[in-house]
Amino acid sequence: MTAEFVDLRSDTITQPTPGMREAMASAPVGDDVFGDDPTVNRLEQSTAELLGKEAALFVASGTMANQVALRCHTRPGDEMLLERKAHMYWYEAGAPAALSGVTCRLLSSDRGIFTPDTVIAALRPVDVHFPRSRLLAVEQTHNRGGGTVWTLDQINAVCEVARSRDLLLHLDGARLWNAAVATGVTEKEYAGGFDSVSVCFSKGLGAPVGSALVGSSSLIERARHVRKQLGGGMRQAGIIAAGALYALEHHRERLVEDHANARFLALGIADIPGLTTNPALVATNMVYFEVESQPAATMVERLRQKGVLVLATSPDTIRAVTSLAVGTESIERALELLREVAASSPG
Ligand SMILES: *Cc1c(COP(=O)(O)O)cnc(C)c1O
Repeated sequence: MTAEFVDLRSDTITQPTPGMREAMASAPVGDDVFGDDPTVNRLEQSTAELLGKEAALFVASGTMANQVALRCHTRPGDEMLLERKAHMYWYEAGAPAALSGVTCRLLSSDRGIFTPDTVIAALRPVDVHFPRSRLLAVEQTHNRGGGTVWTLDQINAVCEVARSRDLLLHLDGARLWNAAVATGVTEKEYAGGFDSVSVCFSKGLGAPVGSALVGSSSLIERARHVRKQLGGGMRQAGIIAAGALYALEHHRERLVEDHANARFLALGIADIPGLTTNPALVATNMVYFEVESQPAATMVERLRQKGVLVLATSPDTIRAVTSLAVGTESIERALELLREVAASSPG
């Protein structure tokens, strides 16, 4: 999209910065399937260290990181417990069934955050009739929950109960970076209770491509094999890993700006007649709001015609996401146009 659009569809739309492009252009590379790419190796090592785990694997996308983890942790017929609107269930093209033969046990929650009691109630007894409850997945921040953040206590409580019932634990940390800057709890502390963690470099961190799966050396060894099976073994991948490394080193702290912009946007939206949102619930870089006067899809189209891009996530809900692609002036412009579109009826 061109510069005249205020693009609030996602934090995946960011463009690599000049410094990032330079780092990518000059990165030393090798054949990563042979383990020869020094930049990929550096990225994997830095990511593992940052998350306090033994090893990491660079993969093409967050979906690949999550699904490789799922494949490693389960066998066909197993059940995964996860929140009702979790990305792994909602937005990954049916991959748990298609790639791992795993069924999903969906947990109710308060905006993505569920409790130890909910986990206990969903567990299957060991019985010849039932699938084996094998894995609990937690999403931090929770995307469809509103970019919500688990506190460390909340996460540790569900990890503890899952662990005591012999479940394995996966953290979908596509936006774990956002949770860390929002709370001051480190990524490593959040990752502590989990067997595996996925993180994305291509969301708020602004790299063009890439995610990582992090865990024990033995898990990552198996994950490397599964990645190859899925066609995810890349050759001179250092070119893209360099963008991810640059993002890790330069773009984590600046996420506070995206959070401030999201709050500013939510406060503005809360003042627009016909639109409803609760700014107090905006914890990171996402703002969900309800539309009363017209279908959300209609409003999205009318906004597009004026130069603001957002996504309808239900018949009456719109999501707007802040990122390094949108400065505070762009948010002001988006608010102006939102006001205009909300005030007039669809033509
Ligand atoms: C974006 C996202 C992913 C990964 O998405 P890809 O587009 O496959 O990189 C995983 N989990 C959550 C919560 C996400 O928001």
